[in-house]
Amino acid sequence: MAREFLSILPHRIWQLYSKLMPIPCRLCGTMSQHQAICLACLQNLPLLGDACPRCALPISNAYLCGHCLHQPPEQDLSFSLFPYLDPVDRLIADLKYHDKLFLSQFFAQLMGDKLRNRRQPDLLIPIPLHPNRLRQRGYNQSFELAKALSIKLGIPTSNRYLIRTIDTKSQASIPFKARKQNIQHAFKLIQTEVPAHIAIIDDVLTTGHTANAAVKQLRQAGAITIEIWTIARAIRHY
Ligand SMILES: [Zn+2]
Ligand SMILES: [Zn+2]
Repeated sequence: MAREFLSILPHRIWQLYSKLMPIPCRLCGTMSQHQAICLACLQNLPLLGDACPRCALPISNAYLCGHCLHQPPEQDLSFSLFPYLDPVDRLIADLKYHDKLFLSQFFAQLMGDKLRNRRQPDLLIPIPLHPNRLRQRGYNQSFELAKALSIKLGIPTSNRYLIRTIDTKSQASIPFKARKQNIQHAFKLIQTEVPAHIAIIDDVLTTGHTANAAVKQLRQAGAITIEIWTIARAIRHY
């Protein structure tokens, strides 16, 4: 009952409440203070570990993976915090589909700690939702994450660079091979100038086709270094 009540609180009220009162862990329900996830569940979350610097696929060394050596993706660098596995997939679904916007703060806190000591981009650009999807959902989880990262790292963010012009079906619901075709013309750049170093923010890096389409637009406008930062990296297709 208490958990259900807390789950529908607006984000700011939830933040205030969580500072004053213990809150139930999103994964096990144990009451904890100041955290969306209790310490025990937090320590059990699977970190990605060593990964290809260009596409974030898990590898045992810090050099490029075979995919990037043979067919490099559009982006220069990728960072993901977790492999896209249980229970991280459940937490991301909570953030994305169930209005648990406080999880953007939780993920940004962990991502920011890992990203703090590298050369910082000039701007964070969230992967946009099509206006129809935005209207249905009420928020863009990638922009929520970008805003939380912006505060954590002191890097500006804006959702006024890229727009989604095609209301593509959910990438997760169509066959793997059709995804590239589906997404490649989905974005449009609406600014004529972009900074030299950009990080694109999204929740999950899956096939990379979504990210590639966005990176191409930014590259054509003059961006030199483009990174993809995501909460999780899907690894099942490789
Ligand atoms: Zn827990
Ligand atoms: Zn790679």
